[in-house]
Amino acid sequence: MIVHWHRRDLRPSDNRGLARAAASDESVVSLFVLDPTVLEHASPVRVACLLEALDALREWYRDQGSDLVVGRGEASRVVPERAAAYDADTVVWNADYSGLARDRDRAVRDALEDDGIESESVHDAVHHEPGSITPNQGEHYSVFSYFWKKWRDRDKRAPVEEPAATDLAAVSGEPIPTLADLGFDEPEATPPTVTTAAARERVADFCSGPIYRYADQREYPAAGGTSRLSPHLKWGTIGPRELYAATERATARAESEDARESVRSFQRQLAWREFYAHVLRYNPETVAENFSGYENEIEWRDDPDELAAWQAGETGYPIVDAGMRQLHAEGWMHNRVRMLVAAFLTKDLLVDWRAGYDWFRRKLADHDTANDVGGWQWAASTGTDAQPYFRVFNPMKQGREYDPDAEYVREYVPELADASADDIHGWHDLEQAERERIAADYPAPIVDHADRRERAIDTFERARGEA
Ligand code: FAD
Repeated sequence: MIVHWHRRDLRPSDNRGLARAAASDESVVSLFVLDPTVLEHASPVRVACLLEALDALREWYRDQGSDLVVGRGEASRVVPERAAAYDADTVVWNADYSGLARDRDRAVRDALEDDGIESESVHDAVHHEPGSITPNQGEHYSVFSYFWKKWRDRDKRAPVEEPAATDLAAVSGEPIPTLADLGFDEPEATPPTVTTAAARERVADFCSGPIYRYADQREYPAAGGTSRLSPHLKWGTIGPRELYAATERATARAESEDARESVRSFQRQLAWREFYAHVLRYNPETVAENFSGYENEIEWRDDPDELAAWQAGETGYPIVDAGMRQLHAEGWMHNRVRMLVAAFLTKDLLVDWRAGYDWFRRKLADHDTANDVGGWQWAASTGTDAQPYFRVFNPMKQGREYDPDAEYVREYVPELADASADDIHGWHDLEQAERERIAADYPAPIVDHADRRERAIDTFERARGEA
């Protein structure tokens, strides 16, 4: 027997580790481990997605006359135990690049070795593995545009086939625990459906039309113009090669240069995901530390009330509040709005990006360490290729530009459902009596953006040793 240990690759097809196991002479036993040290960092919405993806994957194995074996406990104990129980001589898995995952994998590899069982890790989650796209000096690019040029021009692997039923062992697994069994409450957000069938449907829909409008629409949260594939890419219910191949077919069908460019701009976002995976692989400490140091410490403010207002979507800045409430309701937020709410927390409120990252990690269905840390450090002007510290987003202007009719705000902030777009995006400048007349239940701005912008710039200049 050979074991394939599923982790963030909850799909049978376009799975290089599983295909590698299936290509051996042995029958494949597929295993998933509910590891308490990993679950400790999870949240109800993400665990709900995980359990659904596991159910669907198990169905697929059962249809093939096999099963998904689901163990519980520390991976470094459960993986060798199960491998030994099935008399396996090798365990294969797909590489994961965060520091926590690499520590875990090292412990599993050592434990297997102690038991005389071989292990093999395969690159699967990205097209071009960390270490394969590098500048002349250094282990990874810190500037995305250089990375993108090389990423774009490299040949991509084709998707790999799912294993044949005859490659799989006739095993039967235990029931998959429920959220409550694992000690989680029901999520407050409605979890997206995270299965391979749902991912494929989304890819097919997106690549049949919206992908050609992506470049024009991706910045407008009310347009729904992005793929919403992030929870699938997080759990691996779709493979990167299968997704990329679908985008290439869309390119071949494109009827204009603009349409082809739009597909390209979507592929560029897929490359951002890989860029951040490379950055985290070589800088695991940046989950907690600034990527780019300043001469002095940044004087972050500890303000629990302002942080709580931000978390609750009660800052009195409508576009910020709409984003925070979308996060609460859906476990997802549009990218433009993620950038805005992160800038608001780290610049207007001057609260440490790590507090924002913690909140996102708890709330996002698509939380992905590399992308989340990358996004937060970008917004906080501490990351690779980050937003310059002096370019502080103005939430009113951003609202006017990216949600001109305030449709997005009205959807998520019902108190403003009857307000005009002008009043919504000018909320900050209205008299208090006027605000009360328009929406008595919606708060006045908790801070003055112009003052806070200046304070943020002064703080960063002190950190740079310039003030
Ligand atoms: P699309 O626009 O359809 O893009 C397709 C895919 O490309 C995404 O699913 C994602 O895998 C990748 N992608 C797109 N934009 C980015 C980006 N800026 N950085 C990295 N990858 C990208 N993305 C996550 O997947 N998980 C996170 O935890 C996460 N946290 C973020 C936190 C902050 C503060 C910011 C500013 C961004 C964060 N992002 C994160 C990036 C981005 O917001 C999401 O990937 C995107 O909104 C997901 O929606 P989509 O699938 O419709 O994206």
